[in-house]
Amino acid sequence: MIQTKGYATHDKNAKFSEFNFERRDVGANDILIDIEWAGICHSDIHQAKAEWEPMVPSLYPMVPGHEIVGRVSQVGDSVTKFKVGDFAGIGCFVDSCRECGACHGGVEQYCIKGSAQTYNSTEMDRTTPTYGGYSKHYVIDQNYALKVNAVEDRSGIAPLLCAGITTYSPLKRWGAGPGKTVAVAGLGGLGHMGVKIAAAMGAEVTVLSTSPSKEADARKLGATGFINTKDSDAVKAATGTFDILLDTISANHDYGTYLSMVTLNGVMVIVGVPTEPTPLNAFSLIGGNKILAGSMIGGIPETQEMLDFCAEHNVVSDVEVISPDQIEAAYDRTIKSDVRYRFVIDMQNA
Ligand code: NAP
Ligand code: ZN
Ligand code: ZN
Repeated sequence: MIQTKGYATHDKNAKFSEFNFERRDVGANDILIDIEWAGICHSDIHQAKAEWEPMVPSLYPMVPGHEIVGRVSQVGDSVTKFKVGDFAGIGCFVDSCRECGACHGGVEQYCIKGSAQTYNSTEMDRTTPTYGGYSKHYVIDQNYALKVNAVEDRSGIAPLLCAGITTYSPLKRWGAGPGKTVAVAGLGGLGHMGVKIAAAMGAEVTVLSTSPSKEADARKLGATGFINTKDSDAVKAATGTFDILLDTISANHDYGTYLSMVTLNGVMVIVGVPTEPTPLNAFSLIGGNKILAGSMIGGIPETQEMLDFCAEHNVVSDVEVISPDQIEAAYDRTIKSDVRYRFVIDMQNA
């Protein structure tokens, strides 16, 4: 076994402390990654604070982190995809059944048997707990790791492993591109990636935000429009405007208000996961022949495609780098919508 160090919370109060644990030895198909950067996704916060229970039980001690970039320091005998010294990424899952239609179709996140999540989960043996990226090392099967370009500053790449793919996948599926109007609701970690990626795809992007102070940033990120959703007149003026509305909001909100801004035959895709169920009035859908869709991260092939797309279009996340002793403060600021626009933990010096 490989000794490593991480930062764990032991209950839903989410206070982090050093946690020593073991990773498995590097098997024939495994690589060992020395973690450099670990992004803080709002899903980390939901799970660390047990906000998704009972749908997603929180297992403690919990080492969150599923936006991971690091350097490959060891490879198993059968590994062909990586060599020592390469850079690699890990997203939200680290294994799956490899047999079902979803796994064969490259959408392992929808594995019929349930994929092994990067943390707050177990390996496919359903016994061995998984610990995430707020740690120094990860051992992962080469097929579930992503190839990362050797650019100098890789801190802004880590958030692509969740925030990037979670926005890229539905934007691509629903046809974001030239001639399409895209609204991104919520300008946080996911939202700011959604804006950059939709703009890079050639769409006209508007941000729907509760934070008027983010308007200048929204425009710098590539949006041409900005609506303060607390201004009911502005929301009303946008009735029937957007072909694709990407909803990244982390807290409970009225889906009907956002659906009103979707155009005839348009789609609203939910990627944000508020903690409570939300009622929906059928009139908000039937009036405009609208589609209400959902999307969860992306499979390994599409995640690699997204990384390559971002490399080609010079898209990275705007990050605030922190040290592990600042995790709680970063959680507090993220909850207050005061994230500009992703906290990333420097694990090299941890
Ligand atoms: P984040 O950085 O905290 O951003 C969320 C944003 O939502 C905030 O910055 C804020 O933007 C907006 N917001 C917060 N409270 C609001 C409220 N009461 N009403 C309206 N808007 C509000 O979070 P994130 O990391 O981007 O994650 C967003 C959500 O997606 C989380 O629920 C997370 O668990 C989920 N998620 C889902 C997937 C998936 O596969 N589907 C993957 C990753 C994350 P403004 O200041 O602009 O209003
Ligand atoms: Zn995430
Ligand atoms: Zn499967």
